[in-house]
Amino acid sequence: MRSIDARSATRVTLASKTQRRARGGRAVAARAVVKETTTMEEIAKSPRPMKIVFVSAECSPWSKTGGLGDVVGSLPVELAKRGHKVMTISPRYDQYEGAWDTSVHVEALGKSVGFFHEKKQGVDRVFVDHPAFLAKVWGKTGSKLYGEKSGHDFADNQERFAMFCHAALKAPLALTNLGYGEDVVFVANDWHSSLVPVILKQVLKPSGLYAKAKCAMTIHNIAFQGRFFPVPMATYGLPESAGDDFFFEDGYSKVYDEKNPAKEEGKEVFDGKIYRKLNWLKAGFINADKNLTVSENYAKEIASNKSKGVELDDVIRKYGMEGIVNGMDPAEWNPAKDKFIDVPYDKTTVVEGKAAAKQALQAEVGLPLDPTAPVFGYIGRLEEQKGCDIMFEAIPKLIKAVPNAQVVILGTGKKSMEKALEKLDSSVPNCAGIVKFSAPLAHFINAGADFLMVPSRFEPCGLIQLHAMQYGTVPIVASTGGLVDTVKEGVTGYHMGAMDPDDLLPADVDAMVETCAAAAADYATPVFKKMSATCISQDLSWKQPAKKWEGVLEEMFFGTPETTKKAEVVVPVAKADELAARA
Ligand code: ADP
Repeated sequence: MRSIDARSATRVTLASKTQRRARGGRAVAARAVVKETTTMEEIAKSPRPMKIVFVSAECSPWSKTGGLGDVVGSLPVELAKRGHKVMTISPRYDQYEGAWDTSVHVEALGKSVGFFHEKKQGVDRVFVDHPAFLAKVWGKTGSKLYGEKSGHDFADNQERFAMFCHAALKAPLALTNLGYGEDVVFVANDWHSSLVPVILKQVLKPSGLYAKAKCAMTIHNIAFQGRFFPVPMATYGLPESAGDDFFFEDGYSKVYDEKNPAKEEGKEVFDGKIYRKLNWLKAGFINADKNLTVSENYAKEIASNKSKGVELDDVIRKYGMEGIVNGMDPAEWNPAKDKFIDVPYDKTTVVEGKAAAKQALQAEVGLPLDPTAPVFGYIGRLEEQKGCDIMFEAIPKLIKAVPNAQVVILGTGKKSMEKALEKLDSSVPNCAGIVKFSAPLAHFINAGADFLMVPSRFEPCGLIQLHAMQYGTVPIVASTGGLVDTVKEGVTGYHMGAMDPDDLLPADVDAMVETCAAAAADYATPVFKKMSATCISQDLSWKQPAKKWEGVLEEMFFGTPETTKKAEVVVPVAKADELAARA
């Protein structure tokens, strides 16, 4: 098992250089240069600036377990560039360099909480300070924000996040120096902050506060809903009458947490009974002024049936859902400025740049330094949602079918899947499996792989395929959710069809092997070169999605239709052919 320490990026890079030198590093690497080709396109400032407050359990780079952190880290920056005043509120899980104690304290659900603050890239980053966050998670950021391990959520997550929501609603009023006040637009994200629209509508507005304020509820993954056994509404600081909005009939008997951990193997079966639960997300949908999700196709999918909507499809149909495809953060994901790769490159030097990055990746993970090998990468959570079980079955078959193919898989998640990955690593030739949460290696893979595999059973938007494309790496994706909106078959990637939502089917494994083998056959031909060039030519930043976000929030806050502005923003697949013609 090879491992990379996220803190030792320098050591990693030096080691790679030494190895390359020892093997006679290719001259091509030294020649690749970046020509600054990007034009500074003027960003239109909004004539009606809003005060926008994002509330989220994660905010990258301070805290992140996945796409939620990425979105709340980067979308606000783009909205600030458009002239809005933007604040994010997330828990203070750690001692964040640059974030200072405001000395402002408020009471939230009977507890005294403080606020730390940092202004960065035009955005007010506010961190809610309480031992329930700091003492529990300090030193364990990465994937440990919700519990010690996957399926073992902290037993007090309800209390933690209820307190967090109350504190977040006090921040714009209490932090007077920041100049937000009452006329704000809240954007709550995922179940952890879904009490925000409920408290706003059922407690604060009736008390005369936030009269003009509005709240959008955004979901980044419908599978995580915050289902709990019933507690008195007073536990959440809500009137008992709010209980109806939370009421949920659940076919599953359990609520999993650290005291009742989910079993690794075997699915929970319905016993035919109905269990009375509370569902935070449901209450959020009902009380929000607008429900949003992270891609247009996912918005349609989750409203279509019980399975895709994870039993909230009826609520979604009733209260509506609009999709906006995510952008990605070009400050973090940009091959021309990537601090982890040795040879920066852009679309004019993508061939040479990727050749150098591939060599570095191969050296780093211990694969043969073979410039002709098609390299398939994966970055993400090791879970059924991501289709990792399908991928683990497919890899040995792929390597049999394409003997010079190489595979690099980076991920953490379910213990059983981590073990399966370690087994692949030790038993399958040309396959490196790394069980780590490692930003440097994620960058190495995006730059050095030729293809990125995304065999997800469902995928609300998916950011990894956007990151990959920005590095000229061609994605091979399952046809679901945001992957349909962002990857165009034969133009910016390959589709392997939709995977079975529940089971591991041989037909899905075969589809993955066949699609990857077909991609490998295109590798080293002009087809691949053109696809890679088209991928890297796309503007996948927040520039366009932020304009649609602005339109949606304006509609909600001012009550004016913004159809024209919204219609100007199209999903990436709609522009792919035009870009390919020019690539
Ligand atoms: P999700 O939010 O469902 O986990 P996304 O594709 O939207 O999936 O976002 C995943 C983000 O987390 C990406 O930025 C990806 O690079 C990062 N990531 C996931 N696993 C790892 C890992 N093991 N090491 C480093 N980064 C990771």
